[in-house]
Amino acid sequence: MPDRGRTLLGPALALVHTGRAPTRSALTAALDVTRATAGAVAAELAALGLVTVDPHPVGTGRGRPSHRLGITPEGPVVLAAQLHADGLSVALAGLGGDLGEPVHHPLPAATGPEPMLGAIAEAGAALVRGSRRRCLGAALALPNPVTEPEGAALAALHFGWPSGTPVAALFAQQLNAVDLGPRARHPLPTAVANDANLAALAEHRHGAGRDARHLLLVTSGHRGVGGALVVDGRLHTGSTGLALEVGHLTVDRCGRDCPCGNRGCLNVETDPQALLAAAGRTPTPGRPLLAEARALARTADHDPDARKAVDEVAKLLGIGLAGLANILNPDRIVLSGLHRDLLTAAPDHLRSVVADRSLWGRICQVRIVPAELEYAELVGAAELAWEPYLADPQLAAR
Ligand SMILES: [Zn+2]
Repeated sequence: MPDRGRTLLGPALALVHTGRAPTRSALTAALDVTRATAGAVAAELAALGLVTVDPHPVGTGRGRPSHRLGITPEGPVVLAAQLHADGLSVALAGLGGDLGEPVHHPLPAATGPEPMLGAIAEAGAALVRGSRRRCLGAALALPNPVTEPEGAALAALHFGWPSGTPVAALFAQQLNAVDLGPRARHPLPTAVANDANLAALAEHRHGAGRDARHLLLVTSGHRGVGGALVVDGRLHTGSTGLALEVGHLTVDRCGRDCPCGNRGCLNVETDPQALLAAAGRTPTPGRPLLAEARALARTADHDPDARKAVDEVAKLLGIGLAGLANILNPDRIVLSGLHRDLLTAAPDHLRSVVADRSLWGRICQVRIVPAELEYAELVGAAELAWEPYLADPQLAAR
């Protein structure tokens, strides 16, 4: 196809992938090209086995009938993986944010980088071998900050890995050393990134952050607090990948010590452990902290201790979000993990703290919404693995 059409393949695939071009006429309008050009681009994506074009035009209620576009159901997949404090998860994902059922495993007994990444590679390879679809790439979400472009994991608080572990190189090595079966691209392209960054990317493309221009995501997972910013569709990761460590914003000058050396950080004042402590509970040994804290937040309507704890922690979260709103001026804040439950349990309280404590809060109230995706980190890892193909869909033919 002509050069002009070729440069449109990536943007066109991204539009179908994110549901913004459900028909050929929507694609024509979004690309701002002629119907003939959009038709040729859609046909090329179909020939690559990525997109389907319904041969029969259907009416959509607006304008003339148009051909429906979709993701090829038996098209290629990527492997999405996540390592977290309570275990590891793997899933296959097609285009369109279509995540297959994740498989969860406990962490291996040996917690060094090689055994852990090896366990992920084995679990992922079993899925790839068991699928009839081609596998084009793999990506891993990690709870650590990950440097760019080297892909080294820093401050490995969770697993005691040496800071600077070259995790991108090790993941590529481990995954390409196992049997991926005949349908995986070889060598399989791999990538690694921070889990909060990937969750933000996923929510922006397929969840609660759709159409936001400056999307701030704040989340509290199993331990600590993470954040990420998506600006005009791209993650803002700073000069070396380490931006948006929102967890280390001070929200209580007299608060708890934080592993960063400061005290009263969002990281230690609004995570699952902090909520349990505010309700006077001690964590049940062996039970994931996040699950226990979420269950507590859900009882706030009838348990006065839980109500008091939720209001207290939601206030500290609101103070943190107000500071971030002052600095970043987002048009949407998506709350994930335990913070999503705090928003559900105390929506008015949390929103009014943010409005009262931020400079423009009452005039330009920022929308604060709960995350929508159940496995946002895995969906985001899939986005990362799809990235080269969204930039150049013709790579899928190689
Ligand atoms: Zn801190």
